[in-house]
Amino acid sequence: MALREIRILGDDILRKKSRIVKEVDEKVLELIEDMKETMIENDGVGIAAPQVGILKRIVIVMNGKEIVPLINPVIVSQEGEEVDVEGCLSVKKQTVTIKRPSKIVVEALNEKGEKISFTAEHYYAREICHEVDHLDGILIVDREECE
Ligand code: ZN
Repeated sequence: MALREIRILGDDILRKKSRIVKEVDEKVLELIEDMKETMIENDGVGIAAPQVGILKRIVIVMNGKEIVPLINPVIVSQEGEEVDVEGCLSVKKQTVTIKRPSKIVVEALNEKGEKISFTAEHYYAREICHEVDHLDGILIVDREECE
């Protein structure tokens, strides 16, 4: 495992669209381990591959204390809305108050390459929306600030 450098706002790679992961191979698993380590080291609660300079559709989120890697995550449905404050490891010293769905259904692959589908609510849903935004080159500073 190795720590990876976190890319900061202004770095072009954060603005690019990430590619679908075709196969969950050793390289992908190694990247996931590095992302976990990098997230924990930086006191993050989520991280997306572009933040460590890799344009692959992989994110890590925290479900309470459980670390959850999601490969090719897709938000297939959403409902409700909630407003809360978000920060980002790539956007230092700035938080943005953002409206997100309060409940989402997510499809992804797990580390075994198996298809998974689950419902996430509230803070967990927010984290996933935030990280999936990264895969499309969207940062919190692009989202409309709410009161
Ligand atoms: Zn972020």
